[in-house]
Amino acid sequence: MILVLGGGLAGLSAAWHLRELLPDVPRLVLEAGEEPGGLCRSFREDGFTFDLTGHYLHLRDEYAEAFVRRLLGELLVPVERRARIHARGALLEFPFQANLHGLPPEVVARCVLDFLAAREEPVPGDPRVSFETWARAVFGDGIADEFLLPQNRKLYRRDPAELTAEWVSWSVPRPTVEEVVRGALGLPARGLGYNPRFLYPREGGIGVLPAALAREVEDDLRTRARVVSVDARERRVVLEGGEVLGYERIVSTLPLPYLLQRVRGLDGCPSRGRSLAEMAGELSWSRVVDLQLGIDRAGIADGVHWIYFPGDEFPFYRAGFPSNVAPALASPGCSTASVEFAFGPREEIPGEDELLDRALDGLRRAGVLRRSDRVVLHRARLLDPAYVAYDRARTPVVEAARERLLGAGIHLAGRYGRWQYSFMERALLEGREVAEEVARALRGEAAP
Ligand SMILES: Cc1cc2nc3c(=O)[nH]c(=O)nc-3n(C[C@H](O)[C@H](O)[C@H](O)COP(=O)(O)OP(=O)(O)OC[C@H]3O[C@@H](n4cnc5c(N)ncnc54)[C@H](O)[C@@H]3O)c2cc1C
Repeated sequence: MILVLGGGLAGLSAAWHLRELLPDVPRLVLEAGEEPGGLCRSFREDGFTFDLTGHYLHLRDEYAEAFVRRLLGELLVPVERRARIHARGALLEFPFQANLHGLPPEVVARCVLDFLAAREEPVPGDPRVSFETWARAVFGDGIADEFLLPQNRKLYRRDPAELTAEWVSWSVPRPTVEEVVRGALGLPARGLGYNPRFLYPREGGIGVLPAALAREVEDDLRTRARVVSVDARERRVVLEGGEVLGYERIVSTLPLPYLLQRVRGLDGCPSRGRSLAEMAGELSWSRVVDLQLGIDRAGIADGVHWIYFPGDEFPFYRAGFPSNVAPALASPGCSTASVEFAFGPREEIPGEDELLDRALDGLRRAGVLRRSDRVVLHRARLLDPAYVAYDRARTPVVEAARERLLGAGIHLAGRYGRWQYSFMERALLEGREVAEEVARALRGEAAP
């Protein structure tokens, strides 16, 4: 028996690929929630459909794209990104570094001059330098101070000097002099960044993706099955309620700190150093409250898809308007909005009414909402964990934990299983990768 812990995209994809690779070995996905999908679930209520903040498909891998297209087919529509940044009272196009026009002239001048000066210095080659050092070296102090540092300080609730640059290199676009200068002069920039275009279902929200995948593995899926502990020595998993299941191999997509605190039987040998629970204690993350709003006006925010808010004068770091991506998400004549507030793991989270007041106040000050707009529905949903903090503890702990768990037949996959910054595409691909890893292990083959 292969047990897959967690029925988000990574777990579902692992089950699908295990069935392909090892059709004769029984497998079972154990999902704590009432339905599978994890962070990619969608919620329907009163004619509105909400994802857990925006969930857009940036598919760069051919296999992943074919996999998703096979599941969703005609339901997928291509979308040109319309993202903005609210900075110093102006609404800039995204990405910031290539769209400085609109900021006060002295700020534009500082950003451009600091960028040119930074280009004289080498880019740090070590991804373990601090995020702050990396941002200043690649973009210059102006762009770092105006956008990259405050935006990420808000998102991670950490000083960017404490974070490393391990997660950024592929996702943050590196501009050329031409792009920065043209953007500073207000000349149109060509599509930049990792997500100038994306795919999204015409209706139903992103939840149609895990739902379609779950249908294909439904015989191997159990919902309302919360894993509370794993005995790695006896190879047994205990579910909430006391049920015990044996296994040969585990694929875990559960948040790594949770798993490390609940695996028994791997500590005890002094030469192995820290206990798994101690390792778990070194990992850090931020939580996000997604305040979902239904608003009685179509096409709010002038049709923009989402806006970043780096400034301290706004209590949220981003607000998205998903019905501008797919109008079917809102009931007729209405819009949806997702206002994202980040919190540290131990920070107190205000109640929904307080968050609603803060959201409405901020969105009105930003000119997104009018006084006459009425909120017809609101729901606050907590994403915990949401963003893995790449601080100096993270990578050594994750690598050591992964090795120790693998030695006990526990394979890791997914954004939180591998404790990383990643997207839906990677979750699907890691499902395949981990299924191959398990198949090799069961055949007694070494990793390539
Ligand atoms: C704010 C935000 C915005 C994002 N936007 C995008 C985007 O636009 N595009 C994109 O591609 N990606 C986006 N992502 C990333 C994307 O959501 C993830 O990469 C992907 O959904 C991860 O899937 P997963 O299966 O690894 O994890 P999850 O979806 O977290 O699945 C893990 C599953 O494990 C279950 N579980 C937890 N504990 C237990 C337990 N004890 N027992 C049993 N089951 C348990 C959970 O219920 C969950 O279903 C975003 C992420 C966040 C936080």
